[in-house]
Amino acid sequence: MIGGDLDHGCADRRNPVGSPTLKSARGAGRLAMGSETAGAAARRESKGDRAVRIVVLPGDGIGPEISAAAVEVLGLVNRDLGLGLEFETHEIGLLRLKTSGTTFPAAVLERCRAADGVLLGPVSHSDYPGRAEGGINVSAELRIALDLYANVRPSRSRNGLAHYGRTPMDLVIVRENTEGFYADRNMHLGSGEFMPTPDLALSVRKITAVGSRRIAAAAFELAGSRRRKVTAVHKRNVLKVSEGLFLREVRKLAQEHPDVAYEEQLIDSTAALLVRDARRFDVIVTTNMFGDILSDEAAELSGSLGLAGSINAGDAHCMAQAQHGSAPDIAGRDLANPVSLVLSAAMLLDWMGRRRDDRRFARAADTIDRSVDALLKDPATRTADLGGKLGTKAFTAALCSEIGGRLR
Ligand code: NAD
Repeated sequence: MIGGDLDHGCADRRNPVGSPTLKSARGAGRLAMGSETAGAAARRESKGDRAVRIVVLPGDGIGPEISAAAVEVLGLVNRDLGLGLEFETHEIGLLRLKTSGTTFPAAVLERCRAADGVLLGPVSHSDYPGRAEGGINVSAELRIALDLYANVRPSRSRNGLAHYGRTPMDLVIVRENTEGFYADRNMHLGSGEFMPTPDLALSVRKITAVGSRRIAAAAFELAGSRRRKVTAVHKRNVLKVSEGLFLREVRKLAQEHPDVAYEEQLIDSTAALLVRDARRFDVIVTTNMFGDILSDEAAELSGSLGLAGSINAGDAHCMAQAQHGSAPDIAGRDLANPVSLVLSAAMLLDWMGRRRDDRRFARAADTIDRSVDALLKDPATRTADLGGKLGTKAFTAALCSEIGGRLR
């Protein structure tokens, strides 16, 4: 128990779930930066500690509904494949603000730090008060505190489901997650945005060699398990210094990976090319804000923002997080599509399996992925955002039935 925070009974609950087998995930987030060493794994196992702890933070808006769906799916693969997952849920966000005076208690952050993985539902951070009043952006806080520098965001069109780009796509955007233009997280002290006078606003953009190099390393690692192509997306024609530094480091990685094709593309033309011919892209590596915007575009072009899974990964931690927001307009109405968070959870499993060298995790992730595809192919098993009739709960039940059938 940390900091006494977990004693606030109703806000937190722990629910271990309960059993066994393989195949590699088609899932696009095949990353295991900083794999657990054989020694660390052996020490953990010799202590009889085989549990894989996942902290669940349901979040705001549709967060609780889609988190429940993702936990149900994880619980199912856990039982069938014996993954040893244990879930620990903590309330965060606007409800937590009312009970604890903060959207994200420090003790909950420490539970995330101690866990093997985090499942974060979307948060309504636009509605949070300032930090001094307890409004902590949970997503940003976790990315910085756990050094989750790689935001891995796949977008893939699916057989039988309309896509809105002119071509089908199967790409991954690897977005730097800890610096760039994000004023609330790119400074040690203070904010990266400030107003010297009431009529002058300035934003500082932070690009470092270390940050650029490690995101490039993640992108080339990922490309090695895919179609072996990396596109660095930039705006060096205008931001010569900062984008120049980013590209300098990415080019070094390109030289170290002669087996991976490398190209560079301006951000603006990339936005157009995603619509015109997304087939040309395999792995896109880019800075924080470009990656944030491009990934929403790519996800929507692939079929829907509601389908886009993502992980935030570092050398020691990984967090599954839907690409979309908290959708307050449909919250609590059983209308939300849980696929984005479910696929994010599958990516987290894949990440864990690679670190542990345990193929059962990859099989779980792959089965979830294929089951989602099977449901989406049939208009009768789609949610409202895709023109279907199933609510969140009915879709989740159908998905669990499909997964169960494939694992049996
Ligand atoms: P949003 O992604 O929440 O919603 C955009 C539109 O997509 C809405 O019409 C919504 O109903 C729909 N939508 C989103 N997810 C859906 C799903 N799973 N199923 C069906 N429909 C879905 O974006 P927004 O409205 O701009 O932002 C709402 C809140 O979310 C804001 O407070 C914002 O700051 C926050 N936000 C959070 C995250 C995050 O937690 N990672 C990301 C983006 C935005």
